[in-house]
Amino acid sequence: MKDDQTPTGRRRLLRIAAALGATTTVGLFTVDRTDAPGPPTATAPAPPSPAPPPAPAAGAPASPRLAPTAYRLQPMTSYAPPRFRRALPPVRQRPFLRMAGAGNTMVLTFDDGPDPRYTPAILRTLRAHGVRAMFFVCGEMAAQHPDLVRRMADDGHVVGNHSWSHPLIPKLRPSRIREELSSTSAVIEQTTGSAPLWYRAPFGAWNRHSFEIGAELGMEPLAWTVDTLDWKEPGTGTIVRRVLDGAGPGVVVLSHDAGGDRSQSVAALRTYLPQLLDEGYHITVPRR
Ligand SMILES: [Zn+2]
Repeated sequence: MKDDQTPTGRRRLLRIAAALGATTTVGLFTVDRTDAPGPPTATAPAPPSPAPPPAPAAGAPASPRLAPTAYRLQPMTSYAPPRFRRALPPVRQRPFLRMAGAGNTMVLTFDDGPDPRYTPAILRTLRAHGVRAMFFVCGEMAAQHPDLVRRMADDGHVVGNHSWSHPLIPKLRPSRIREELSSTSAVIEQTTGSAPLWYRAPFGAWNRHSFEIGAELGMEPLAWTVDTLDWKEPGTGTIVRRVLDGAGPGVVVLSHDAGGDRSQSVAALRTYLPQLLDEGYHITVPRR
């Protein structure tokens, strides 16, 4: 896939996103969802526009039993009882940028894959350290490499929707946005047995239609806090430094496992992941 970079305006988009949602957060751990909305997070942002968004319903604060020193690998929780049906999420006005209320927790995300040249090595490193991450896959890549998507899910990683062909969403008609997102959700569901619960717009370029369609498909929008800019191939050391400098509670890190030569991204993970763990961070995935 293409880099998460637009020829124009990405910096501006990010500034706008930061201004609108600098404190947008989502809880990491939830009790089993019912059709009732969850409690708003303590750090829910002030509404940026006259129409207030619904309170973020993606999660409750972390359970106190998941103290930062207790686990590196978050225990798997049980499946929701069958009597509870997962509610469609509300239509957001901006993506989540970070996670809330879970102590020294961080989330690693890898976009644009899977790519057989890089994804297996990333999966091996994550497995070696017993941590889970999020992979925002492109449908056309997932359809070519279903074995890798299955391996992500089998290892407990969250497989998210990153569109089918990595277009600039705001340039598409709503019908095309729907095709991009629904076809990708379908291939993920066919491959893993579960439809994705999260999506991320290519280039971080969202629009109202994408929020509406994503919600219809049962997905919450997740952006990121720290961009490693690994697609620019800045050198392994630079990627490592960006992650470690940006580390903090609730931080969501953006990297790539496809879209170009990602060997620096692969090597950097081997260095920064054990360092984050040594610093006491839990690397985990959001729960919905
Ligand atoms: Zn991307």
